[in-house]
Amino acid sequence: MPPYKKRLKSHELRALDSLNARMELSSKDKQHYAYLEKGYQGELVFDQLTSRLQNDLYILNDLCLEHNKSFFQIDTLIISQQTIYPYEVKNFEGDYRYELGNFYPKLSKDEIKNPLDQLKRSKSLLRPSLKNLGFQLPIEGSLTFVNPNFTLYQAPLNEPIIHPTQLNSLMKKLNDVPSKLTNRHKLLADQLISMHQTDSPYTRLPSYTFNGLQKGTICAVCHSLICSMERREKIVCETCGHEETVDSAVLRSVEELLLLFPDMKITTNIVYEWCRVIESKKQISRILKQNYTLIGFGQWAHYE
Ligand SMILES: [Zn+2]
Repeated sequence: MPPYKKRLKSHELRALDSLNARMELSSKDKQHYAYLEKGYQGELVFDQLTSRLQNDLYILNDLCLEHNKSFFQIDTLIISQQTIYPYEVKNFEGDYRYELGNFYPKLSKDEIKNPLDQLKRSKSLLRPSLKNLGFQLPIEGSLTFVNPNFTLYQAPLNEPIIHPTQLNSLMKKLNDVPSKLTNRHKLLADQLISMHQTDSPYTRLPSYTFNGLQKGTICAVCHSLICSMERREKIVCETCGHEETVDSAVLRSVEELLLLFPDMKITTNIVYEWCRVIESKKQISRILKQNYTLIGFGQWAHYE
């Protein structure tokens, strides 16, 4: 069953895809980028599994909600007739250990951010949010590890943890739970979606300027920077071979520009400089005209 709310790549991750190709990230930023990308890939693994559920459920992927000025994120929220299931999804890989309530890489003394605490926090903020919406369904959340190469030594029995080897039985459980959704559940799902905050307050990006970034077109598949073009009608990535029409690449580049510089006035000259590989300004101007509205005249004209 398709999710009721789809997962989109966060602004932060999309911006980092672009910045990583266009500037030298510090090792700290690179690490943060890799962490986010890995987390996102893990969420997609979980989405694959939930998309095969046949039961009468609402699946809301990636909710960022706010309660009393506190933001909390739920990787996946499943609404069944009688119960709400929030999932914190982790894509940790390798050996970890659990000791006195904390998580550590197996051979390290440096504890990592406790994912059970994250789950507890979201649950404690979700409960009053649901109550405000007039729902008092029980909440049964789990911390879900999706990477098949993950092992947690000394895992506690009394904490809501789903290990990679238990994902299939979790899906079976969700498929078998008696559930008949009503209009009220739909109302709840719609309200939660309308409360979703698209700009997460936790976004952490390095500082950058238009002039400081390398120009070129970014490959839609592997995110490498394409700086030259051999054929006129198509843009071809030298790294992965992906081909894209000029129109589609220009539109994606404009979106990327607006993601990094939300206040930027889009003009033919700016897009020409940003994309770098497109030979004719005329072509860019035609694409912008067809897809955006021209505002203003002469040297102040720009597209919105
Ligand atoms: Zn590529």
